[in-house]
Amino acid sequence: MKIWFLSTISKIRQWIQGRYGYDQLSRFLFILTLALIVLSRISVLRFLYIPALLLLSWSCIRCYSANHKRRRAEYAAYLRIKSFFSLQKRKWSERKTHTYFKCSSCKKTLRIPKRKGKMRITCPECGYVVEKRT
Ligand SMILES: [Zn+2]
Repeated sequence: MKIWFLSTISKIRQWIQGRYGYDQLSRFLFILTLALIVLSRISVLRFLYIPALLLLSWSCIRCYSANHKRRRAEYAAYLRIKSFFSLQKRKWSERKTHTYFKCSSCKKTLRIPKRKGKMRITCPECGYVVEKRT
């Protein structure tokens, strides 16, 4: 019995070795799954149970996947989407004090204070200089 147990543990260790593991996207998918399961308890939203199970499956598949290249690409896409929404949130919270615009040379988003008149702005990324009225 003990030998069988140790052999099984060893096989599981070998199988887990080199797997992608848990990251922020897996965590987000898991939390979204829990939220959908809670919402699916409402009779009108019962259909949300199926997407919740699909998201949970995707989260588990990601954790035990050996295809690191694809998992990293998914994670990079997740981070791009997340940074887009955090920028929108920041723009909204600073909408009365700052204005945002894209550098016409490198497309980096720049932030300048509002109501300062005509300003000469140098992009920290590429050094492009532009004049803006704020
Ligand atoms: Zn620039």
